[in-house]
Amino acid sequence: MATAPALPPLREVIARYGLNASKALGQNFLLDEQLLARIAAIPGDLAGQRVFEVGPGPGGLTRAALRAGAHVTAVERDARCIPALEELSAAFPGQLEIVEGDAMKVDARTLAGDGAHILANLPYNVGTQLLIGWLSAQWQPWWASLTLMFQQEVAERIVAPVGTSHYGRLAVLAQWRAHPRLAMKVHRSAFTPPPKVMSAVVHIVPGEEPGGVALPVLERITAAAFGQRRKMLRQSLKSVPGALDALSTLGIDPQRRAETVSVDEFVAIARLLSHA
Ligand code: SAM
Repeated sequence: MATAPALPPLREVIARYGLNASKALGQNFLLDEQLLARIAAIPGDLAGQRVFEVGPGPGGLTRAALRAGAHVTAVERDARCIPALEELSAAFPGQLEIVEGDAMKVDARTLAGDGAHILANLPYNVGTQLLIGWLSAQWQPWWASLTLMFQQEVAERIVAPVGTSHYGRLAVLAQWRAHPRLAMKVHRSAFTPPPKVMSAVVHIVPGEEPGGVALPVLERITAAAFGQRRKMLRQSLKSVPGALDALSTLGIDPQRRAETVSVDEFVAIARLLSHA
């Protein structure tokens, strides 16, 4: 690989292009290049790999991925960031494609291509919605991995094991056919400006899809079960036709609460109801 070009410090880029953080766009920038390199290393060796980055902002994570040898397609909503990103693109010829647009509206698969690694430090509300979309799409998914920054509480909900207070719908959705892990905690002081809460990076790789399960059925069951998480299953699942029979077929005690039902057990219930 050619030697990486020297780039101005990110603070200088922000000052030069007047990228004062916008609260409305959830802008909390990461400027520590060592930290950014560690985040870009989470998906593994990116040399020659395709990366789809959402919300590059001034381009800190982008430059880390480019230095690692990735070919990056980056979607940014804030027009003020585009000239800064174009400068980065000129420094890494042929490695960076910039798309000005809303990540919630663009067709990521068409832009990035199958097999891309998704990388994002996003506003939390946008990140969660995109995550749910990526996890709910057709399986095997088009993406190779997801490396996403969340507020720590959301990260914990994604990776939560059964029997813990964070375990819920998001954990089941993230774990039934994928493998999420909490890859790195990031202190709020690492961001400019610092957000109110701590953050964490979650890394997710696709797994095998259990056979015979319709996702809408699984979602209906987890919505009902965790919608009344303090109630026993015999109460919370009453509204789902066939669910109580499924519990009895599977030998799952209806006096248990949703929090104690493993991902495999939810999948088994959904499988029975998907066939019903
Ligand atoms: N990746 C940069 C970093 O780590 O310093 C910026 C992170 S900042 C938390 C979030 C970025 O996402 C901002 O640049 C913001 O303009 C951008 N953004 C917010 N909503 C977006 C959307 N719907 N589509 C694309 N980009 C968005």
